[in-house]
Amino acid sequence: MEKTRARGLSPPANAMVRGHAKQVAQEKNAAKQKAAKGTQRFDAAKKLTVVCPICRTSVVNYAMLMQHYDAKHPKEKSRPPESDFS
Ligand SMILES: [Zn+2]
Repeated sequence: MEKTRARGLSPPANAMVRGHAKQVAQEKNAAKQKAAKGTQRFDAAKKLTVVCPICRTSVVNYAMLMQHYDAKHPKEKSRPPESDFS
């Protein structure tokens, strides 16, 4: 009687395997998200192509440089033309 019940309880081992597979999937997913973030950061660093001629701060593009001028060098009257950075 007891042995029969014990055999009937074997399915939980199966459930453990399923739980493990789920954990592996979650780890894979986390690794994927981490990799995606790393790629985004790399792309952002690559896009920093405009350097402020006054303080050498890198910005993403010419429009950002103009915002940088407004914020950091508001008294600077002569701003470099966009053609300087193309
Ligand atoms: Zn600057």
